[in-house]
Formats: sequence, structure tokens, C-alpha cells
Amino acid sequence: MITVCLLRRHLTAYLTCQQPYLTVDMRAKASDIKITQYLNKNAGDAESTLNVLNVLEELLSSGTDRRIHYMISQGGSESLLNALVKNGSRFIPNYTILLPILYLVAKVGHKDCGIGKKAEEAGAILLILNLLKNNIQHARRAEACLLVIQVFATSVSTAKLIASNQGLDIIYNLIPNYTTKNLQTIKASINAFAALLSSVDNISSAVSKGYVSGLLLLYEEWHSKDTKHSAIDILQALLNCFHKIVRSAVGRDTFVSQGGIRLLYHTTQTCSLNICQGLLVESSVQLMRWCLPKTPLPLRSDQSVYCFPLPRRHHLLDVVASDDTSGEIAGDKMEKDYQEAQSKDYDDDLETDLKKLCLRPPLDRPKDLLPQYSRLCPELSHDFLEQLELSSQGRSPSSSSSDDETEKCNNLSLHSFRRGEKSAVFSKTENGTSAASLFKAKDFYSHTGILNSSAEVGTKARETRKEAKSGLTNDQQNNKSEGNGKSYNSTMIDSLIDIHGVDIPYHEPRTYHAAATKTKSVPGFTTLAFPDFWGQVPSPENEPMAPRKLNIQRQKVLEDIQRFLKTDTINKVVFDLEDDSLQFPPDKPDSLRFFSSFECGNLRKAIQVRRYEYDLILNADANCSQHTQWFYFEVSNMVPDVPYRFNIINCEKSNSQFNYGMQPVLYSVQDALNGKPQWLRTGTEICYFRNYFCPVRGSQKTTFYTLTFTITFKYKEDVCYLAYHYPYTYSALRAHLNLLHRSVASSKVFFRQQIICPTLSGNSCPVVTITACPPSKCDKDLHQLGKRPCIVLTSRVHPGESNASWVMKGTLEFLCSNDPIAQALRETFVFKIIPMLNPDGVINGMNRCDLSREDLNRQWCKPDPILCPTIYHTKGFLYYLNSIGRAPLVFCDYHGHSRKKNVFLYGCSVKETLWQSGSTVENAGLKEDPGYRTIAKALDRIAPAFSFNSCNYMVEKSRSATARIVVWKELGVLRSYTMESTYNGFDQGIYKGLQINTRELEEMGMKFCHSLLSLTIDTKALYGKSLINHMNLGQNILDHKSHNSFEDDEPPCVEEIEYSTESPGLKGDDLELDINRCMANIDAEGSTKRQMSGEIGGYYQTFTTVKSPTPSPDNAGVH
Ligand SMILES: [Zn+2]
Repeated sequence: MITVCLLRRHLTAYLTCQQPYLTVDMRAKASDIKITQYLNKNAGDAESTLNVLNVLEELLSSGTDRRIHYMISQGGSESLLNALVKNGSRFIPNYTILLPILYLVAKVGHKDCGIGKKAEEAGAILLILNLLKNNIQHARRAEACLLVIQVFATSVSTAKLIASNQGLDIIYNLIPNYTTKNLQTIKASINAFAALLSSVDNISSAVSKGYVSGLLLLYEEWHSKDTKHSAIDILQALLNCFHKIVRSAVGRDTFVSQGGIRLLYHTTQTCSLNICQGLLVESSVQLMRWCLPKTPLPLRSDQSVYCFPLPRRHHLLDVVASDDTSGEIAGDKMEKDYQEAQSKDYDDDLETDLKKLCLRPPLDRPKDLLPQYSRLCPELSHDFLEQLELSSQGRSPSSSSSDDETEKCNNLSLHSFRRGEKSAVFSKTENGTSAASLFKAKDFYSHTGILNSSAEVGTKARETRKEAKSGLTNDQQNNKSEGNGKSYNSTMIDSLIDIHGVDIPYHEPRTYHAAATKTKSVPGFTTLAFPDFWGQVPSPENEPMAPRKLNIQRQKVLEDIQRFLKTDTINKVVFDLEDDSLQFPPDKPDSLRFFSSFECGNLRKAIQVRRYEYDLILNADANCSQHTQWFYFEVSNMVPDVPYRFNIINCEKSNSQFNYGMQPVLYSVQDALNGKPQWLRTGTEICYFRNYFCPVRGSQKTTFYTLTFTITFKYKEDVCYLAYHYPYTYSALRAHLNLLHRSVASSKVFFRQQIICPTLSGNSCPVVTITACPPSKCDKDLHQLGKRPCIVLTSRVHPGESNASWVMKGTLEFLCSNDPIAQALRETFVFKIIPMLNPDGVINGMNRCDLSREDLNRQWCKPDPILCPTIYHTKGFLYYLNSIGRAPLVFCDYHGHSRKKNVFLYGCSVKETLWQSGSTVENAGLKEDPGYRTIAKALDRIAPAFSFNSCNYMVEKSRSATARIVVWKELGVLRSYTMESTYNGFDQGIYKGLQINTRELEEMGMKFCHSLLSLTIDTKALYGKSLINHMNLGQNILDHKSHNSFEDDEPPCVEEIEYSTESPGLKGDDLELDINRCMANIDAEGSTKRQMSGEIGGYYQTFTTVKSPTPSPDNAGVH
């Protein structure tokens, strides 16, 4: 017989032979020793076997899992199974030996993914069932068998084998009604039962035998009787069974039809909120969410309400318009084509292939198409001599109006072979349903009440409404609004402004109105939203991020479940874009009134579900069925001081800053008329989570997310607007540019607004040139103007990113200002700014795409001149600048980022790309101009909203068709950026903890301009002028370590946004804890061990006391 000491040493060596501290000699010895030898050699010798088992147990308990995995790799599982079969199949098994074997099988098997198969091969399946049957009266032995069954059943085929040998029935019958005894064994039987349900066949079998309803009854009984909360483990184990059951369709149906949801709902209502019960509630809520029947959105079709006939694809869309059913099929096909098109154009090894990264692709169009863009460099052909003379005579120089440009740019030539099609496009647009023909009058829809509340205004407002609706044509409107004398504006608007007006910089309601009458929308909007017309100023108060209420999501989900269980919901459609009778509904006392048919508006349908609760459905991007996120709508007829819950039920993104302190914005007309025209962050009880709604067509597996928030309105007679973020319309941009033009000192500032091209629906895409007029007419000054480097800035390619427009507004205003830094920048650079690359998307309340269904920021590689004209011509213009040796020094495209905080830049760097993508290319010798970091470094110092650590310079293949990468790669612009601004707020710097508003967004636009000073060759000279001494540029700035930050940078959400089939209990290693507890308690059963051998007994004692404190049998059931 081997002495225990020797045995122990050998086994230790065996299990740790990979440890480096072992000498070669010892390792060699160790490898000779096989556990099989020990166990097999000593078969029949109870004492020796026990010795081996004890030592094994000690070694496996104290080491890491590596020991167990090593043992498995050396056939340890098989040896243990053989020992189990040998000892278990005896006529009268020796449980002193058998129990430790069972525990070891469970412990090792738990880590062995092949344990089921090995157990089958060893013939252990029937054996373990027999052992269980024979020990039903013996709680500890039964528990050990059940632990082993749990482990075996991790293999689906083994679970089936066990069930086919009555395993399901034997175990199900072990689960008793409420008792306070043998809780551990009961728990083990329920968990073993749950383990068997990993097979769908077993679930079906359990369903057909009525076990599901049986388990539900058991849950109800245990839950109601367990008043002292000592059976939480049992309840959790039962919930685990339910989680397994509902994974199959038949299981889920049975669970629901047997009242599972109702039962869990009621039990959660009686749970107290201590931590243990909290886990039960969490697990129950997840189960209920998973089981709620998938419900298609209450819509006729997933397709957007707004449909615009596209050139070249119009045959498809004609079908949509002519016939509903086949139209949807055509829509589905389009959707498929679209998805395919989206997925194919990635350049697979862009990130790791140095050649590809550095290769400059050829021009995407004939070279002779470029000179047409010379007109977009008016500063080069402008007659400054004339201007200087005129201004010296005190006369203002003439400047061409932007509208004159529209005609010119309609004649832009495209690819020659497409010329024929081009004219067809434009004539179609002009005659189409979408354009100006539908414009009757601009009016406010539902403000009568408020406007009438002021007696002086009332009469005039009514007059105005009458006048405005009296069938004026668009042109008459324009003339009136821009002209003089008695007009629409001079009555209502003037009165309103006289009485209630607030002076808002660079905003003027009349100018806005005039701009809006020219804006062409797909549905033909005839109404202005009050906030856009009236204007807004940022809130003077700080707006901290909203704290998240504890368990808010759970509470909201439970309210949703209640809706499912009770049939007392109202379910009344109160607003529907597709139902004219609900567009202008008469005031109903008990419902809110909604409206969204105005520029940038997005709300498709509103359903009142309870007295003060509404489900809201957003409209997909025009011509497609996706991209819902942006919302902007009007709400009125509210009861003041009552919390209203709003649920936007068809959100698509899998997470949202609404879970991290962000609030929607609200604008109150009452407040505006009282001198506070402000969009304010509003809303409580905000959260964002996956719901049970699915698309009308398509897979039921795709479900949507709910954004829920609660608003308490202040006033009775109010009209409020709610939006995802501070709206900024296309008309606002046009009005803003006109006001800016009027504001600049034309003798100093060269400001020219032109049209780069018309959009698909016939709106103009403006481009602005800003630079300094030459100080004199001498050749030297004129020559310097021609040599100024260009800075090209673009924005709002994604229509839902209104934050980008506010940043751009800040940039434009700063560049036109009298600030000495602005003057210095104008003298140094020529700014070419395209402030809205996607006017049609913005106007029609879209979130991501253009009317062509394309994400325009994925079209830059080869933009289609017909379908993506703004991108095609912007790129053409950049090519042109390049061709005349004026490629931009900086290109930056402003965006909004929905999942991160702060403001940051994405740029392009070969080195950082190779490094971040883990490329093996040797790039130590690669020389790269580090200048791409200059702007970010400057912003880090001067812009409080800016986060240097969120910047990234990786050229990712998934973004190879974005403006940033194409401009960098094809035009060789070193400083080509995307600037991302948060929708939410800040987690760093002086704004930390605050939500962003238009003040900080505009400030960011200004600071971006400041940062450009860092690029001027002679920054020292600028220091000399003490313009930028506060900026402290030019010093060595420590390089922060870049990290890949394209993904969500939030920690996991406190509550699970997604529902899962896993219960919290299933995720934790509950089984392992149970096994360890049993092993620690082995003393009780094996009290005879110590008498068997003094040596072993002594040793065994030491080993048990060294281990973690053994729970006393009394409280063993609670951890
Ligand atoms: Zn974007």
C-alpha cells in the first residue's frame, strides 16, 4: 500500500506538473503517475481508494480550475466514472466511498464538456438513476446523485437518455409541496429537473405530462407559504425551470396558457425589496418579458408614410403607390436589395494592408467635369477693385443673391452619359406631388387658444388665419412675407412679436417664415412648428443629467405586463399620419392632441393606452422601413400637473443615452410667449429597454425597443413640442445664412452664399465661402488671397443629428464675427462650408438616410450623381480644389453621436490603423506626418466640451466610404475628420455631469475655429498680437494614449435592456457552490473515516479545517 504522504506528493506532482517550479526530474516522475493507476490499482481496497479520493479532493479544492482541466485532459473523468460504476453497482454500496466519488464526479464533470458522453460510455446513466431511486429516503445521498445528474444533463443527448429512462418522472416526483426540511435536496432535484429541460424533446414531454402546470402550482404554494424567506433558493430553482421551459415554443405557449405570466406578476407584487427577493423579481420580470406574445406594431405597413418617387427606380415605387399589397412586396424586395447593397462594399483587409491604406484611387469621374466647379470659388474671380472703390465711396457693393444661383446650378453637368436622365429627374421633381404646388400657406395649427388668450393679439391672429388660408399662392405668400405694406406678417406676427417678442441673435421670425415658404417637403407641409418660427435661446440654468431611479425599468416593464394582463386599457388611436380624420381632430376632453406635419416633424401614430399614457410610433425614413430614432412633435390639450407617460415603442438601437441620464427636450409656447423661448431638458422615469413589438412584416425575432418618459405639463392652455434633440430645420439654416449675410461688414468680410446643387426633391444645398477681403487693391494683397489655404467644413449628412447643425451655427457665426481671432482666421484661410449635406432628410423628419434610402455618409467612394447629388457635387468640388492646387488643409464633417458623451474627433492615420488592427506589418520605418493630431491637441486645451481620449484615428474598413476616409485617401488631406458631438452631455471637464445644450454646441463650433490657429505657420506672430495667449499652443503636449473607442463606451446598464432566457441564477455558478458545500460537509456522513486510519484521519481533519468555514447544518440552506 502506498503511504498517504507518497500518494499525496505524487498526485500533487501529477496535477501541477506544468508548474515551472518543478524540476525536470520531478516532472518526469510525475508524468509516470496516472490517476487511473491509483484508482484502478486500489479498486477493492476501500481504505486506499478513500485515501486517493481524499487527496484528490484536497488538491482539486485548493487549486485553480487549471488543475481540474489538466486532470480531465489526462482521463480523470473516465477514471472517476469507472470508480463510480464499480462502487455504485455493488449489491450494497459503501457510501463512505461512494459519496466522495459522486462529489468528485460532479466537481470534475462540471468542468468537462464531454462528461455526458463519457458517462454514457461508462454505463453511469442507469446506475445513477438507480442509486437515486434507492436513496429517495436518504436526503444526502439523493442530493449527491442529483448533483451528478445535473452535470450529466449538460449534454443534450444525455439529458434525453436520462428522460427516456424515466428520469424526468423520478425527479419531478421528488419535488414536494411546501416544507422546511431537506431544502438542499429539494433544490438539487429542481435544478436537476431544470438541467434535463435543456432538450426540447424533454420540454415537450414535461408539457404533455402536465408538469408545467404542476410546477406553477408548486411555485405559487412555496411562494405564498415561505413567509420567512428561507426558501428563496427553491423559488429561484423553480424559476430556472421556467426559464428552460419557455425557451421552446410549446413550452412558452403552455406556460402562458397555464397562467404563468399572471402568477409571476402577482408574486412579484407581493415581494418585498430585499436583495434575495429582488433577485426573484428580476428573474420573474425577465421571464415575463420573454413570454409576452410578440405583437406586430399596430400599423398597416412598416414602410414610411412618406414615399418619394425616385429617378431610375420609379418603376418599383410606382407599384408601391398603385397597390397596397403588392407595393409592400415591392418594398420588401427593395429592402432586401438595399440590405445586400449595404453589406457588400467593405474593403476586407483595408485595416491591415499597408498598400491599400496608402493607395490613392483614381478619379471617380472624367477630369473635364471638374472645371464647372470653378464658380464655387467666387473669391478668386471677385472684382475686389470695384468693391474697394465702392466702399470708399460709401456705397455697398452688390452681391449676388443665393437664389440667382439656383438656376445656374440646375445646369451643372453630370456624367455625360447620364445627361438624358438628368433632365427627366428635374422635370419630374418640378411636376411631382412633393414640391411647391402643394404649398398653400404657412400657419400654426393649434395655437388659437393661446394666441386668443391675449385679447389684443386674438382678433389679429384670427384675421391672420383667415387671410393666410384664403388661397394665396406660394409666390404671393413669398412676396407678401418679404415685401412691404400690410401682409400676413405685419398683422399676426408683428403683433405677437411686439407683445411677446424676445431678441434672439441671428434669428428673425419673418425671415424664417420667408425661408420656410420655399422649402419643399415630400408631404407638402403647410404648417410651421412654433419653436422653429419663434426661435429659441438656450436655458440659462445648468441642466444636470437626470438621475436614474432605482429599478425604474422593472417598474415600467411591470406596468407594460399589467397592460397585457388586464383588459382595461383604452387603446384608442388619437393621431395617425395616414388617417386624415385624425390629423386635425376636434378637441376631445380626455385625450392629448398630437401633430407632426411640419418640417423635421416625426411622429407617425399615437395611441392612448391609459388615461395618462400614450404609445407613440415613429415614422421610418422616407421610402424605407427603418432608422427610427428622431422624433419631433406637437402636443396640446393637456391637463396640467398630471404625469403623462409616453412610450416610443419602435426604437431600433440596442442601447441609448436615455439610459445614462439623457432627457428629451420640450418647448412650451406659453413659456415662449412669456419671454422664455427655450427648449428644456424634461422628463422623469426615463428608460430604454427591449419590448415585445415586432415589425408588421418580417421576422418576429426582431423586436423593438421602448423609450419611455414621463412629462408633467405646467399650463392648462399650452402647446408643447417634444423632440429627441434641439431641432434645427433646413428653413432655419436658410434664414440663418440670410441673416448672417446681412450682418457681415462687407468691406472686411467676403461672405458668399451659393448653391452646390439641387436635392432630389428640388431644395437647394447651400455652400458658403467666408474669407477676409484684401486690405488693399495692391497686387500683393490680391495675390495673398489667392494663396490662402482652404478649410472645408460640412455637416448634417445624417438628418437626425441636429446637434451637428448647432455646432455648425456656432462655427458660421464665429467666422462672420468681429472677434480678432475670426479676423485672423479669415485673413489666413478661405472657408468653404456646406452646412447641410442632406436637406431632404432634414426637412422630412428622417433620421439617417436621404430620399434615395441611402446613408449618404457611406456613398463617398463613388457617389451616384442622380441619387446622391449633394455628395457627388461636394466631392466634385473637392476634386476641383485639388486640381487647382488648393486641396483643403483641413476637412471636417460635423456629426452627432448617440452612444457617447462629450465631443471628439475621428481622424485618419496609417500608423494608428496598423497598430490598432493588430497588423503584423513592420511599420517602425514608416514615416507619417503627426500633424493629424494638432487640432485635437489644441481642442483638448481650449474646448471644455472636447474629450481628447475619445478621439480615434483608425481607418476602419466599415467606414471606408465615409467623407472622412475618402477625403483623406483620395484627396490626400492629412487632417480629414469627423467631429462627433454627444446628444447627452459630459462626463469630464468643467461641464461634467451636465447635459449639453445649444450654447455648448455653438461654443464647440467656435472652439473648432480657434483650434485652426494651431495650424497657422506663424503662430508666434499671433502670440505677438496677443490674440491667443490664453491658448498656450505650440508647447509640447503630452501624447495621450489612443484607444479604440468606436464602440459604446458606457458601462453595462444597471438593468438588462435585453430580455434573455437566462435567469440570474443560471448564470452564477450555483452548482459549483452546491458541490463545494456538500464536499465540505462530507464529515457528517463519513464520520467513520477517522477510525479507519489514524494517519488518514489526522490528515483529513487538518484538511477540512484549513478549508473555508463549513456552514452549520442549520443554516446550510441559506447563502
Ligand atoms: Zn452621423
